[in-house]
Amino acid sequence: MGSFKLGGMTFGSLFKKPETLLYPAQVKTPYPHQKGHIANKVDECILCGMCARVCPCHCITVDKKAHTWEIDPFSCILCGSCVRSCPTTCLLMEPASTAVAARKHVIDLVVPDKKAASEA
Ligand code: SF4
Ligand code: SF4
Repeated sequence: MGSFKLGGMTFGSLFKKPETLLYPAQVKTPYPHQKGHIANKVDECILCGMCARVCPCHCITVDKKAHTWEIDPFSCILCGSCVRSCPTTCLLMEPASTAVAARKHVIDLVVPDKKAASEA
């Protein structure tokens, strides 16, 4: 690249809007298939534990007795193995990034007890 062209680009950039955003005050619209975070449609979860077994980061915990499904979004590397292994396809890769947080935390979801609900 010639120095004349480079100088023109540098000069032109002085009058353009910046390419960067003031995240998290400004959030970019995610791309449709962006790997953002893992979500669980708990109504369809059968607590089989397959997602926890295949996760290379051990960030999913399934407690069948307590009917809870837990994920540490700050340890997740968004590999998608859990989504591919879920037999009920209740796990999804959502495009929006994990929400900004001051401290690391796990997301604990209660899975409805369908058996108890049908007996009641
Ligand atoms: S693999 Fe799917 S159905 Fe099984 S525990 Fe995980 S989220 Fe629930
Ligand atoms: S996307 Fe990968 S790292 Fe994240 S929870 Fe699923 S299996 Fe674990």
